Amino acid sequence: MLRTFLALVVLVALVGCGSGQRGEPARNESAVNRPIIDVHMHAFTFEAWSNGNRPPHPTTGKPPEAKTSADILRLTLEAMDRYNIKVGVLSGSLETVHAWQARAPDRFFAFALFSGRPASDTRAHDPTPSLDLLRGEHAAGLLQGLGEITSPYEGVDYDGPELAPYFALAAELNLPIGVHTGLTFPEAVFTCCPQYRIERGNPLHLDPVLARHRGLRLYIMHMGDIWQESTLAILHMYPQVYVDVAAMDWGAIPRGQFHAMLHHLITAGFGKRIMFGSDQMVWPELIGQAIEGIESAPFLTDEEKHDIFYNNAARFLGLPEVPVPTMRAVRRGANSSPH
Ligand SMILES: [Zn+2]
Repeated sequence: MLRTFLALVVLVALVGCGSGQRGEPARNESAVNRPIIDVHMHAFTFEAWSNGNRPPHPTTGKPPEAKTSADILRLTLEAMDRYNIKVGVLSGSLETVHAWQARAPDRFFAFALFSGRPASDTRAHDPTPSLDLLRGEHAAGLLQGLGEITSPYEGVDYDGPELAPYFALAAELNLPIGVHTGLTFPEAVFTCCPQYRIERGNPLHLDPVLARHRGLRLYIMHMGDIWQESTLAILHMYPQVYVDVAAMDWGAIPRGQFHAMLHHLITAGFGKRIMFGSDQMVWPELIGQAIEGIESAPFLTDEEKHDIFYNNAARFLGLPEVPVPTMRAVRRGANSSPH
């Protein structure tokens, strides 16, 4: 999640690098039915997320396609069908996550989004459910993971006392946990998030957490953004940690910069630890744009794309991996999937 109000800045960045607007088809013929797992979706409403406003599309500046909060779910499901997204990790308040799941059983994994600030804290934008509530949801089969952990937005350190019991819970229950890393839109500190500080998004600060919980199933959301050296260090030291490419892929940073970062991870040998995510927030139209961010990477082989779009997330989430789809399999519609 990148929070709102970032439209114009990103638009300028994209126009400046001349990418993302080339009018290429979203997917080439051989890839048209590549199966996808999206590990970074959100169940948001305009009312809860943006005070009832409909923030403009973050790279075009146009009004969002969704006119109502119900449209966000409908358009998300349409995009999932169009792009062969088998399952999405759905992050939000559990109330909204469960409401979406009720409308589309078997399409989503339920993840709880929170910042570390308790609900009793009036500054909390993303209030934190109690440990008892999360335990109960998990025991009832209604919770598959934790995240997005949005602590950098709300002045909470990864390794602080607020989040310590939640990382311990994830370790105890063997739950995957996704953590927001990196930057957000310029001047966030003067708009949404007065407690935001750059340094809190550095994935290096996950080191003490990971050292305390061997094998913690953590993923670094937004691939560590500008902190690529920190990200490489964490990936090297903790082989169970994965990254997602959410928001970076749809153009929160210039396409060339994203591809350079992706190439950096691939050449460092981490092609099996990179997962696709869209970070669609209230703009389901970003999903196709995010997919194109991967498809357009000239250095990726078909197998590497398949790993990023599907197999790496399947392995991370405990789903069966599937073979690289072939043209013949695509034509027959024979590519297998867990759903
Ligand atoms: Zn985020």
